[in-house]
Amino acid sequence: MPASVPSPRPVRLGLYGGTFDPVHHGHLIGARDALEQARLDAVVWIPCAQSPHKPGAAPTPAADRLALLRKALAAVGEPRFVISTIEISQPAPSYAIETVLTFRSVFPDAELFWIVGADQVAKLGTWKDAAALHRLVTFLVMDRPGTGRDRRLPKGQRVVALPSPRVVGISATEIRHRVKAGLPIGHLVPGPVAAHIAKRKLYR
Ligand code: ATP
Repeated sequence: MPASVPSPRPVRLGLYGGTFDPVHHGHLIGARDALEQARLDAVVWIPCAQSPHKPGAAPTPAADRLALLRKALAAVGEPRFVISTIEISQPAPSYAIETVLTFRSVFPDAELFWIVGADQVAKLGTWKDAAALHRLVTFLVMDRPGTGRDRRLPKGQRVVALPSPRVVGISATEIRHRVKAGLPIGHLVPGPVAAHIAKRKLYR
């Protein structure tokens, strides 16, 4: 290649793992901010089979969580939001390191990021093969109401705070509790997600 032709920059992939039980506006706002602020080429939403961080709680069947995620992303209409079924097609639990190693082998030249909420930061060191994981990805940490920001970030690691001024204090736990209590959730999730939860009688 002649010296005057700039080589293309590596593709920047944001891997966004979670239980997404159900996906909600907090997830969508955070993913949008990560996409734009970290100049990602794509956010790959990766629903887990079962989070190693939530061993006691069996999640809603993966097929339902996946259907909710598909409906949420269709409602948003962002072509750079894509879903990977890599974790839900494997037996639980889902470990980020294994997922990241697969992405690394499929996209050897990509720059890999792992998107997490600020509530996860204090626990990052306990993730399986944490040191190897930190060599493979840069963590993008979204604000999350109720948790601190930069002062909580581990020093010397590839961890970047994402200021996310619109992020809202929504959790999937709150949504599940509201559904169980018969309270509305239409303001917390995209309309098609609320409709699917009602139709499938989830979280009752
Ligand atoms: P639960 O209430 O069941 O624990 P959750 O709402 O935290 O669920 P997860 O699927 O566990 O949702 O979250 C996936 C990722 O999204 C995690 O990194 C989490 O920190 C982050 N996240 C969840 N909700 C928000 C939010 N409102 N703002 C920013 N990040 C969030």
